[in-house]
Amino acid sequence: MTAPAPRPEILRISPYVGGESTIQGVNRTIKLSSNEGAFGVPPGAQAAFTQMAGELYRYPDGGAEDLRRAIGARFKLDPERIVCGSGSDDIIYQLCLAYGGSGRDVVMSAHGFSIYHIAATYAGSAVVKAPERGLCADVDALLASVSASTRLLFLANPNNPTGSMLPYEEVARLRAGLPSDVLLVLDAAYAEYVARPDYEAGARLVDAGDNTVMTRTFSKVFGLGGMRIGWAYAPAAVIDVLNRVRAPFNVSIAAQAAAIAALAEPGWVEKGRDHNLEYRPILTRGLEAAGIKVWPSEGNFVLADFGTPARAQAADAFLRTRGIIVRAVGGYGLPHCLRITVGTAEEVALVIETLGAFMATSRG
Ligand SMILES: *Cc1c(COP(=O)(O)O)cnc(C)c1O
Repeated sequence: MTAPAPRPEILRISPYVGGESTIQGVNRTIKLSSNEGAFGVPPGAQAAFTQMAGELYRYPDGGAEDLRRAIGARFKLDPERIVCGSGSDDIIYQLCLAYGGSGRDVVMSAHGFSIYHIAATYAGSAVVKAPERGLCADVDALLASVSASTRLLFLANPNNPTGSMLPYEEVARLRAGLPSDVLLVLDAAYAEYVARPDYEAGARLVDAGDNTVMTRTFSKVFGLGGMRIGWAYAPAAVIDVLNRVRAPFNVSIAAQAAAIAALAEPGWVEKGRDHNLEYRPILTRGLEAAGIKVWPSEGNFVLADFGTPARAQAADAFLRTRGIIVRAVGGYGLPHCLRITVGTAEEVALVIETLGAFMATSRG
């Protein structure tokens, strides 16, 4: 008798490890492990969610029309060229399943977002990782990794977990160097946090051709990670494909209402962005003053580099004894680093103080 078996590549997938949220034996924890916004849920979104409680017997609008219209108005994009998903992860999976597959490779950078690897492998694609330069995606290396089998290239910009960013000129050079039949997916999950004038989230390249997609999320600055809402802006032909393959009711009725309200929350994005622009440098300088290397970041997190895996593990353990949960990134090939979300002013101060104490004691 043989038991049912999945395709062999499925068992080579390591399950995604999300940021932890509890420490055994500690009842008050500070969670800085998942890059959730520093300010919780937008009040209007919380109210909209509560108001939907009586409507939960109804199916959602499968086309998420009101939400797509609200996104379009907010970001000045054609709602017809937007598809919503159960988080942007959902969209990434659908793109891999539709455009990838056996003999249809996926290219990503060495320390790129791990969901690309999982989704591509699930689809049956081989994944090719291009080396980075100074923990930043390298356009020449990405282009050199492309072969006749390549069908998709994923670039998180800014990237998680490194925080690095490619300016528009570099992303445009990447697009220009790719074969026209390679779909370039620009994952702009942290776009709202970027203040650099040479940045562009992706819409410009989507509009410039028929082979670039931009993905966005409500999980970060919009404070709705638990609701699972993301979206893609894409050429009409890609939108048509996504609408054929996605689950018909992939965004719940409550998620649609909460997202629409989050978009309408006055000053919410500005508040999150301004806080991050103020406190990310404070966190960076505080860690550097303690003797920790911090990689430049355009996101709402920093990558703290402890030099060796043992030291990073010791720092993680020390933070945990104080109830602070950050993200170990060994799975990203960065075992000597920890990714730390920029939290509230108090949380930032506490991280600096705690890691300062760690460095003082571990220095001996
Ligand atoms: C957090 C994050 C996302 C968002 O995923 P959702 O499924 O929308 O919650 C996407 N890409 C990157 C690089 C991220 O860090």
